[in-house]
This record gives sequence, C-alpha cells and structure tokens, in this order.
Amino acid sequence: MSDLNKLTIVQAYEGLKKKEFSSVELTKACLKQIKKRNQDLNAFISVFEEEALEEAKEADKKIKAGKQEMLTGIPFCVKDAICTKDRLSTAAAKILDNYIPSFDATVIAKIREQGAVLIGKNNCDAFGHGASNENSMYGPVKNPHDLTCVAGGSSGGTAAAVADHMCIFGIGEDTGGSIRQPASLCGIVGLRPSYGRNSRYGSMPMASSMDTVGPLTKTVEDAAIVEEIIAGHDVLDATTVNEKVAKFSKSLSKLSKKLRIGVPKEYFELEGTEEETKNIIESKIAELKKNKNIEIVEISLPMTKYAIPVYYIVVPSEDSSNLGRIDGIRYGVRKEAGNLYDTYAKTRAQGFPEEVKRRIMIGTYALSAGYYDAYYRKAQKVRTLIIQDFDKVFAEVDLIVTPTSPFSAFKIGEKKDDVLAMYLADVFVCPANVAGLPAISVPAGKTKAGLPVGLHIIGPRLGEEKVFQLAQLVIPTAPGAGRDPF
Ligand code: GLN
Repeated sequence: MSDLNKLTIVQAYEGLKKKEFSSVELTKACLKQIKKRNQDLNAFISVFEEEALEEAKEADKKIKAGKQEMLTGIPFCVKDAICTKDRLSTAAAKILDNYIPSFDATVIAKIREQGAVLIGKNNCDAFGHGASNENSMYGPVKNPHDLTCVAGGSSGGTAAAVADHMCIFGIGEDTGGSIRQPASLCGIVGLRPSYGRNSRYGSMPMASSMDTVGPLTKTVEDAAIVEEIIAGHDVLDATTVNEKVAKFSKSLSKLSKKLRIGVPKEYFELEGTEEETKNIIESKIAELKKNKNIEIVEISLPMTKYAIPVYYIVVPSEDSSNLGRIDGIRYGVRKEAGNLYDTYAKTRAQGFPEEVKRRIMIGTYALSAGYYDAYYRKAQKVRTLIIQDFDKVFAEVDLIVTPTSPFSAFKIGEKKDDVLAMYLADVFVCPANVAGLPAISVPAGKTKAGLPVGLHIIGPRLGEEKVFQLAQLVIPTAPGAGRDPF
C-alpha cells in the first residue's frame, strides 16, 4: 500500500488490525516523508529513526499477540517544549540545547503506554512564545502550503508535520492559541482542552494558569480519540479535575438536542481581519444555519476586547517566575564569566531568544513592588470580568464560533519586528485561555492563494463533547488521507 503516512489514526488502526501493513511499514513511510520534506519545512528538531523503528517492531509484536490498542504502532510527534524520556527536549531554546529528560510528560506516557511510536520532536517558538515559529533558536518552520509563509506558532512544527503527513498525529501545547492558530494556518484540527482537563506534568511551564496540552490531528474523530486517551486526573498535576472523561469519539454524531450557537458581534467588527478569512467563516456559519439542529444567535462579549492586554500582563508575569528556574547551569549553552552572578546573566542572555527575554522583563516589571497593583492585580480583576462575560453567554448558548486567526498564513519576516502585530494574531484564540475554556480549530476553507482558514469553536468549561460534535459537523472528512474536502 502506498502513502501510508497519509492515513488518519482510525484508518491506520484498521489497517494494522487487518494486517494490511505493519507498524514498521507505517513508520518507514513517515520517516521517508520526513527525509523528503524536513529540509524545506524545518518541522523537526530531532528525528528518532532507529528508536522509532525499534518501537514499531515492539508494536507489531503487541498487535500479533492480539493486544492492539487504539494508538498501538501509530507514529506521532511532540512539540519540543514537552518532556520525553531519554529524548532531547530543547523547547527550541539554546539554554536547554542538550536537555534529555529522565521522564515522559504524563500525556506522553499515556500515549506511549498504548505502544504508539515516537518519531520525533518538533520545532516551535522557544518555550511556546510566539505565533509564527520565528522565535525558535533552530530557525523558522515553513508552511507546507507555501514555503514562503509561516506555519503559525508556537506549535508550528507539530502542525506542519501533521499537515504534511510526516506523522499520523501530534501533541502540542496551548497557552494562548499555540495549538489552534498553527492548526488553522496549516489546515488541520487542533484542540485546546479545558484548563484542568489534561495533565501538564512534564510540559515546560510558560504561564501555569493558562497552559494546556492537546492533540493536533487530521480529523475531528482523531482529535477526539487522542483526547479521551490523554485526558483525566493526574496526581502529578494538582490542577487536573477529577471528572469522568467521556468517550468523545463515540458521541460525535449524537447531538442530543438542538445546538444554540453564539456568534459574537465584536469578533467580526475587528479591524485587521483579512476580508477572505471573514468571508470563509461567514459562509461556513451560513452553511451551519441550514442544519435543522442548529440555531445561530448573535451574542455580545464586550469584555473580550481586554483579553489581549490581560493576557500580555498575566502571561509574562507567570513566565518571569517560571523561567527563573532555567539557569543554564545543568543543561544547555553555559557561558562562564568568573563569578556566579555574571555566569547566570551571560548564560541567560545568550540562551533565551529576544521574545522570551522581553516577556521575562515585562513580567518582572509587572510583578515588582509598586507596579503589582497597577498591572498584575488589575489584569487579574479584568480576567474575572472576562470569565463572567463568557459565563453569562453560556447560560444562553451551547457554543461560540469565531475565526481562529484574523488572517491566513503570512510571509516569513512580515511581522517579526512588529511585536504588537504579532500579539494581535492571538486576538480570537487567547480569550479561551484567559477563561480556561475548551476550544478547537477546524479547517473551514482556503483563500484564493491556497492558504487554509480555520473555524474556531469555543465551549463552556469541560464542554469538550459538544465542541467535538459541532466540529464534526463542520468537517466530517479528513483534509489529508486523499480526501481533501475543499
Ligand atoms: N502567541 C501566544 C504567545 O506568544 C502563544 C502562546 C502559547 O499558546 N504557547 O503567547
């Protein structure tokens, strides 16, 4: 069988079960695609060819023994800011250049326990800071649909790798859109779960009150499958909720009642949103309106215009605290300077890229005595108002839809030096993080230039099931696997 790398999880599972191909063959097909395309895309920082083939052999034995689980033998990739046991995990920053964790992040352990094959670690914006992948110290990731454009960020390498069929699915991290925005720009599905749904143990912390870990996949069904495997309480992450996890993949087409969907008027009046993006999203909403199980209503979320300013105070503040532990003494590029203080200063100065240093400085300032009340405390108060805005709306509607990104993939270099323009890329995605809500990006169409545009669905806290159900309605087939719906 050719093009095995183009399969979805469901298709790969079926093929492995029927012995149409082996995990070794499936893994080789992915490795072949990586060899062919990674030079252009720069989606991987590490590729574990030998280890992956060993893991695939083990998976084939497991399948032969009749012990196949959903992800057994299926190749996947992981953002480099998530720890993987005995595998380099750099967070795309030189300060962790040679860091090899002695443990797997909890979500990775759950996936590997099923016998999935870890094929490589993905390039990303360093420590998750960015929306274009240009803040990686390993060079930018290119968009598989147009090599002159960005793949989005910060999980851009993972999105590009899945979109380009270098592996079957990926795991990313989302603090302010880092799963959904690159998924949108690369034309795949990306889920940010509710805060507390999935363990973040082993995901390098950026802003602990907003960080989440989630799947990037070719279909909604695949995202639901991965999510139901990785979700759940973890004693190693005190923020995880102890709630039963539903079988999301089994209820995708089971809408129990009519869905009321809110379209926030403020989101469509935003200056700077690309006309084509707006048109694609509006025609998708018009299409949904025709479904008798869906009612579209206009809603208002007046406080969400403050989501970006709140996000860019709270996140740098938590960043400055979290990144204080990265000192370059045990791992990474260390710059000796005669005394301990200067060694720290020089090591951190050269080991972090500019954007990370900017966040640390803004955060340190916002938390400092005299400014704490004016910035950090005030931002936290406004955060509460944003949460209340969403709570009010979710008393009236089941879900909210918006564009994922105000624009399709932009040119590499276009926004790199304009920090505020880059922060605005997060305008539709970061409110969900500020409020702790689940949200997904699904492909909704392509611009005339052939660049993907994503539709963004936000649900109430722990409302992943409904989010998946609407997502499945929007895109029932895989954009990959030779079944491009556009
Ligand atoms: N663009 C966001 C930022 O730079 C993305 C963060 C994230 O989700 N990791 O903060």
